[in-house]
Amino acid sequence: MRPRAMAMALAAVVAVACAPQPEARPPATTTTTTTATTTTTTTPPTALPGPGGTTVPVFQPPYAFGTPQQHVPPTVDGLVPVVRRIETDRPYVFITVDDGAVRHPAALELMRKSGVEPTLFLNSKHVDGHADYFKTFQGAARVHAHTATHPDLTGTSYDFQRGEICGNADLLRGQLGAQPKLFRPPFGNFDHTTRRAAADCGFTALVMWTAAVNDGVVQFQAGGRLNPGDIVLMHFRTTFVEDFLAFLERCKLDGVTPVVLEDFLADRDAIA
Ligand SMILES: [Zn+2]
Repeated sequence: MRPRAMAMALAAVVAVACAPQPEARPPATTTTTTTATTTTTTTPPTALPGPGGTTVPVFQPPYAFGTPQQHVPPTVDGLVPVVRRIETDRPYVFITVDDGAVRHPAALELMRKSGVEPTLFLNSKHVDGHADYFKTFQGAARVHAHTATHPDLTGTSYDFQRGEICGNADLLRGQLGAQPKLFRPPFGNFDHTTRRAAADCGFTALVMWTAAVNDGVVQFQAGGRLNPGDIVLMHFRTTFVEDFLAFLERCKLDGVTPVVLEDFLADRDAIA
């Protein structure tokens, strides 16, 4: 190829590279009639841009959150019931976020954009002095109890357990205006004394879990997917964004919608 032809060929390549995107070109047909249409769409978004260039899956509430759906099991012989999963055949799951050790700045944004209202099991030691942060979750999450100092309660005295549980409830009420009714024992460890102390402190259920999110991976206690009624555990950690998004993506994949745990553990007089 002679130098001049080479230059023209290169110019043609550059021109193509700089051409408008194909979809911006006019249609090939010459008899196009343009009809002005006003399209009003009510289709909700299925995803929104999130923190750090992430994409946040969006869920539509399948019922009005805050409306009781099922009763909590009864307290029998002064012992709160132990709830490991929610008995439902509706395609719902429940997300819980524990402790409060890392006050992640993107947590509220993720909850609001996804339309998911988690249950937060918070320790006094993480809330005390940081109430302003945890108050921002009002209307976006539900606050429940996880003890004052996060000890292993098993085998400890009634007075000790009652102090940890009632004291935590008092602090959450006083500093956050919360109304804690659900209790999660630290490490998932409890005994009869725990269930009795929780009942005496006004709690209606001790809540465990069936799946957990760690380092951006959802881990199942049984099976390889989320199933209706699963309760998922995660924490306020530096990996909050990865963990929460992993949970949301897993829900989409498995065809389940996260809903509000306390709606399915409603007080026994809360449903007509
Ligand atoms: Zn914990």
